[in-house]
Amino acid sequence: MDSAAQDYVRLVLALGVHDADYVDAYYGPPEWKKEAETRKLSLDDIAKQGTAVRERVTSMSSPSGEMERLRQVYLDRQLSSLLARVRMLKGERLSFDEESKALYDAVAPTYPESHFKEILTALEKRFPGEGALVARYDAWRRPFVIPKDRLDAVFQIAIKAGRERTAKRLTLPPGESFTVEYVTNKSWGGYNWYQGQYKSLIQVNTDLPIYIDRAIDLACHEGYPGHHVYNALLEKHLVRDRGWVEFSIYPLFSPQSLIAEGTANFGIEVAFPGNQRVEFERKVLFPAAGLDPARASEYYEVQALVEKLSYAGNEAARKYLNGEIDRAAAAKWLEQYALMSAERAKQRVRFFDQYRSYVINYNLGKDMARRHIESLGGTAANPAKRWEEFGRLLSSPRLPSGLAGGTR
Ligand SMILES: [Zn+2]
Repeated sequence: MDSAAQDYVRLVLALGVHDADYVDAYYGPPEWKKEAETRKLSLDDIAKQGTAVRERVTSMSSPSGEMERLRQVYLDRQLSSLLARVRMLKGERLSFDEESKALYDAVAPTYPESHFKEILTALEKRFPGEGALVARYDAWRRPFVIPKDRLDAVFQIAIKAGRERTAKRLTLPPGESFTVEYVTNKSWGGYNWYQGQYKSLIQVNTDLPIYIDRAIDLACHEGYPGHHVYNALLEKHLVRDRGWVEFSIYPLFSPQSLIAEGTANFGIEVAFPGNQRVEFERKVLFPAAGLDPARASEYYEVQALVEKLSYAGNEAARKYLNGEIDRAAAAKWLEQYALMSAERAKQRVRFFDQYRSYVINYNLGKDMARRHIESLGGTAANPAKRWEEFGRLLSSPRLPSGLAGGTR
């Protein structure tokens, strides 16, 4: 298995030469990366070698230990996803659902417009008036923007709180830490670039106004207990303790991303369950941002409703990438059904262009991570078990179709 794992890492690096977004993180032997850049394997050769390695992996007898079995399935599925990405780069066109199944090992449910209209009706009642609902929602939301000069201070407080809560429940590797940078002109809002040695670089995009909910969202999603912790625990438990080199590379367009994004999003409420989030916002973050703490509960009540519209983003991406609507119509759909401002909707369509069906990893991933952890007993009523199963998922090679509780 070790030699197949090494070949897999080399193939991911080889594909990274063709696809600049493909290798999200790599901290394995640096000479392998140089070798991939020098050899410049063609897409056809990558496909041929990938198929051969995959056959080697699947023809090995199933190992006896659970982690070893998960490792074998992981290599098989990650390779299958790599082969699909090669076919896409060669020009094969897949539908949105075919693509997400091939790349991420999962298919997002489809919701009709009527599903979102029900939620929008509730929001219409909350924000009565003339004109587009998104404009009324946006006007109401304006007092909840974090002033630019307070952004870093607020963000650092949220990170510290996320870290304290995580460190109480999970054993973080010694010396882990990350740095935060503020950037512009990106299709995403935040990004974690894992560097290896338990270090991350987290970038926050300041193109658009940053609302108060983003402080904890970003701190938990990118940092604790999200991406930074996931990557650090994989490095600790799989790369260093077991010597499984395949986890020193992270191909972005692969099933691993659904686990990464899903746990990062679910991790927000694992770290700040129930009322604890609003309490912390009211007592600490709103004052730090200079916002009116008396309005914290009101803000999060509305956010809970708006979050129910999250799957509307998948529908926009699905229709757009399937060629049923153009980019202007996709942006309009996002304004109307996901309540995104015109600017945010435009940024999101840029994200669709760059990352395509990757969008399902956030909301479907979160729902699947929750179902997995809850079906193992890690419910909100049992926080110790919830953290335990959360930590176990972050430290294992488990992929979407191997999650408990089903793929939908
Ligand atoms: Zn993420």
